[in-house]
Amino acid sequence: MLHAKGPLLTIDLTDRTATRTDIDDLLSETIGGRATATHLAHDRIPFDADPFGPANRAYLSTGPLQHARMSFTGRMNMTALSPLTDGLCSSNAGGYLSRNFADTGVSVVELVGESDDLLAVHVRDDGVTFEAVPELAGALVPAVSDYAEEHHDLGPENCVAIGPAGENLVRFASVMTFDSRAFGRGGFGAVLGSKNVKLVTFEGDSRPDVDVPADAAGEIHRDAATAEDSMKRQGTAGGTEFINDNFSLPTHYFEDYEFEHAADIGGNAVEEKKYKKAACSQCAFACKLPTRDEGTGFETEGPEFETIYSFGSSQGVGDLLDVMKANELCDQYGMDTISAGVTVAAYLKREGAFGNADLAQEVTEQIARREGVGDLLAEGVHRAHDDLGVDDMTMKGMEFAAHDGRVLHGLGLQYAVSNRGGDHLYGEMMGLTYGGVIEAEGTTDKVETLIEQENYCAFRDSGIVCAFSGQYIDPEDFEALFDTDYADLLDVGAGVIERERHFNNHRGYDRADDELPYDLPGIDTALTEYYDARQWNDDGTVPEPRFDSGAAQASADD
Ligand code: SF4
Repeated sequence: MLHAKGPLLTIDLTDRTATRTDIDDLLSETIGGRATATHLAHDRIPFDADPFGPANRAYLSTGPLQHARMSFTGRMNMTALSPLTDGLCSSNAGGYLSRNFADTGVSVVELVGESDDLLAVHVRDDGVTFEAVPELAGALVPAVSDYAEEHHDLGPENCVAIGPAGENLVRFASVMTFDSRAFGRGGFGAVLGSKNVKLVTFEGDSRPDVDVPADAAGEIHRDAATAEDSMKRQGTAGGTEFINDNFSLPTHYFEDYEFEHAADIGGNAVEEKKYKKAACSQCAFACKLPTRDEGTGFETEGPEFETIYSFGSSQGVGDLLDVMKANELCDQYGMDTISAGVTVAAYLKREGAFGNADLAQEVTEQIARREGVGDLLAEGVHRAHDDLGVDDMTMKGMEFAAHDGRVLHGLGLQYAVSNRGGDHLYGEMMGLTYGGVIEAEGTTDKVETLIEQENYCAFRDSGIVCAFSGQYIDPEDFEALFDTDYADLLDVGAGVIERERHFNNHRGYDRADDELPYDLPGIDTALTEYYDARQWNDDGTVPEPRFDSGAAQASADD
């Protein structure tokens, strides 16, 4: 089976040491990316670790396809114990980092401990150096990139960085790369913030030799380059009106299912402001969205559909320029646009201020700085909803993505059992529903499909392949790329889901945490069927002993 190559590089921020460990056997079983990082995190983060404590570990990991000339592979994985969900979580970012990361010669970087000083950590193929950067305290992400260029002659494509939100431990702070691409979900910016790491750079000339089948990769690359696909023009924003008209676009903090200004902030409106093409490394599909408002000259990258929902319909904001401004604020301060936008929407509901974009942007900055009401909102909806007097529209502490499980019941079931919480990319149930493959209504007979989709997404995040590749890479393509049966790849994915679940069980998660904040037809029966099919206990836990959990069984205090 094709897999990533190169050692695990462990960087201890307390001692300022770096050690390399051969993990070839693990990589050969887990491919790379999310699967390798999840196995390591499961075994090496103590089950009782504080997400903000030194025992938490943050993993950046690449897959074997990051060595290929192939579209849909400009992606990187990040895994850690999430301060938002309090469970094991993985997030995925595009941009140009993946190739520069691979050039360092390692497959996984593990950050553990915590530094006394604000640090830049420089990972090169010939070693790791630590640089105190007190002058970057409070710096916005673009200023961190400027610093990397000025002092190290490195571009934003070599960097991961956090903004003020990460330093201030905002629970949905993102880790940014290439200024505008985010490891968004799960609050990993706050994990780096708790470790006092502002910037990590990657450079080298030691990319391991990974033999990706050239025919299979070349065919996918050609298809991506030549396909007529509206996503190439409008990105994910292109789905806005279709979803609003035919399914649901959560509006006014989930009060309504349809937004009257959807067309004003949707795909056509975004395309009108798009001023050039943009991509991730090696990707001819090029779905990214650099936009400019000609009237004001304001520029950002996006908004993507999820931001159109979180800072648009959810807040009752129907002016695209306002959504662009909020998108840029989140990128510069380093925050997940979904969680930030939904949290601000909850605040606007409390204030009776839907549609007040100026207030929304003001509060967004306050969150990043933990000023005023921003200090409460920086905790996210799950922890702040009682004080706000609004419903807790989160799953396992994570604010829901745009696709509405109250209407797309298969997705509702996916949200319910997701180890990551309210994130749409844990499976592909919404895509199957939009495409007419499964009915929107009901949960009956959907468990088998859901499990296959979860396993598929978990190995796809290990390869690593972009979530937007679905129409261009089928199971036979995956078999050719990875030189193995599709069933073996799904097994790798199943191992990820089970380890995430097992770790989270040890933090107290069980069936009660798979309950949605709304009614879903047949959910109890579907949950029982799901646990049974996964060979888990009826209370949603993984039977013991299923794994040798190694160091994780030690206490964080040991
Ligand atoms: S399809 Fe879009 S998001 Fe995915 S790798 Fe290509 S440019 Fe990046």
